[in-house]
Amino acid sequence: MKIAIIGIGSVGAAVATAVAGTGLAREIVLYDRDTARARASAADLGHATTFCYDIKITPAMGYSALRGSDVVIIAAGANQKPGETRMDLVQKNATVIRDIVPRIMPYVDARRVKIIIVTNPLDVMVMLTQKLSRIAPGRVIGTGTMLDSARLRTILSRMTGVSTHSINAYVLGEHGDSSVINWTSASVGAVGLDDFARQTKMSLTTAIRRDIDDRVRHAAYEIIQGRGATWDGIGAAVADLIRCIARDERRLLTVSIMDPSPSARVAMSMPRVVGIDGVTATLRPKLSASESAALRQSGRIIRTNYDLIK
Ligand code: NAD
Repeated sequence: MKIAIIGIGSVGAAVATAVAGTGLAREIVLYDRDTARARASAADLGHATTFCYDIKITPAMGYSALRGSDVVIIAAGANQKPGETRMDLVQKNATVIRDIVPRIMPYVDARRVKIIIVTNPLDVMVMLTQKLSRIAPGRVIGTGTMLDSARLRTILSRMTGVSTHSINAYVLGEHGDSSVINWTSASVGAVGLDDFARQTKMSLTTAIRRDIDDRVRHAAYEIIQGRGATWDGIGAAVADLIRCIARDERRLLTVSIMDPSPSARVAMSMPRVVGIDGVTATLRPKLSASESAALRQSGRIIRTNYDLIK
């Protein structure tokens, strides 16, 4: 599999390292408008791969190096500065996506390629990329709330004492401030979370849920405050997505795509089946009335921001 990464900043470099670590890529191409950075990153990662897998790491001096890529990952653009929201980046990063996407398309097979969006504000950038690339909605995939769901599962794992792998709990909607925790469908293995709490006498009051919601929503802000940016979590999330695509695993991931149904007007994260053809199915989990309302509101926020840049 040939994978191209556009934007080799903190996130792009972490993504490259994590994707190389899957051993599933034959070649990884690194492109950044700062070509010296792309060249240096390719050299460093190339040296690193000699300790794990034989992968060709190519610095790209132009978009023609992307020719024949199976997957293109876009991690270019401005990141949040302390106190900034993801939506604050919308104008700047729409310009970046408008610069990049038309330059990718001549070098990839539009019927086969998967484009993975990492750039924020994630859902709006998925919508813009889908419009510019004109490829099938299921193949323009935003990492969406994969990372938010991982943050939620980490907290619930600590609380329950059960591995994150047995926690089925998802964050839906915007990858941003209006994201929605789907408490109604959360479970530990096959046991509903509320039932688990009853059986184990674990306290899961409304106040505790609100606190968890807050911690999940603000995790990125805290990391940015402490280390300037976030990169390890998203690197691992993209590598997991690549694994799911390359091996056609058809796992359920909360990724963001432009909903293909004619009435849908936004991209947002829902539990979706992901494999070699990208997203092939979207599941509608059970939601409480307040979760449904919050999800509709999240969709409205994404749409309003998309309308600002379309
Ligand atoms: P960074 O500033 O470290 O790197 C950005 C890179 O993009 C730079 O190397 C820059 O030269 C390059 N770039 C900018 N415009 C370009 C263009 N037109 N063509 C090619 N390259 C271009 O930023 P970062 O910390 O790596 O963050 C990158 C993006 O990832 C941000 O939008 C950030 O918000 C987002 N992000 C998303 C998630 C997620 O969960 N989806 C998590 C963390 C960060």
